[in-house]
Amino acid sequence: MTLALCATGRSESHLCDWQGHRLNREALADFQRLQRLAQGDGIDLRIASGYRSFSRQAMIWNNKYLGVRPVYDATQQLVDLTALPAIERLHAIMLYSALPGASRHHFGSDFDVWDPSTVAEDYQLQLNPDEYASNGPFATLNAWLSEHLHELGFYRPYLKYLGGVAAEPWHISHISSAETLQGWQTPATIADALNKSEVAGKDEILPHLDELYERYVLTLCAPE
Ligand SMILES: [Zn+2]
Repeated sequence: MTLALCATGRSESHLCDWQGHRLNREALADFQRLQRLAQGDGIDLRIASGYRSFSRQAMIWNNKYLGVRPVYDATQQLVDLTALPAIERLHAIMLYSALPGASRHHFGSDFDVWDPSTVAEDYQLQLNPDEYASNGPFATLNAWLSEHLHELGFYRPYLKYLGGVAAEPWHISHISSAETLQGWQTPATIADALNKSEVAGKDEILPHLDELYERYVLTLCAPE
């Protein structure tokens, strides 16, 4: 039961603290090795976002669903959710934001990473594809990740767009620690989490949960 709660962001018993973020205890040593390897190549590999709880993800979700926080499409254009049919609203949000209970950030094995040494101290990180493109500030980091992530058991599940989540070159995943919790993040455990909470659009989500799960949770890139 605890594993189902960890996998859906409702228990924190799998986590430890590192550099102001929370991460999976089983991912810590490999992440520290990855940072040292990067440091040797002049890269300051840092976590922008690590573990995220169900309630934090629900807040992000609700703010997008209710129009408090902007929703962008794959070309970074603002989307008017009110102009869309209910099911399309879900797809528009899920391009960049997971359903609460269905985020890989619940695992603590997945992090959004950046390199603060290549930008000004007051730089506002956006986590958009331009920043990681070949003329962006994190181009060197992006190329380094392609070359070295696999050496310490990491990969990028959203490296390319495969019809589910948008391409997110900044999102890295520690394969072995994610694997355990992935098996516990199922339509049943996600539905249980949703049923016990206030999530906007819940009545539209639950009848479509199996297809949403297939498209956004199971559609992942293979390790590089
Ligand atoms: Zn991420």
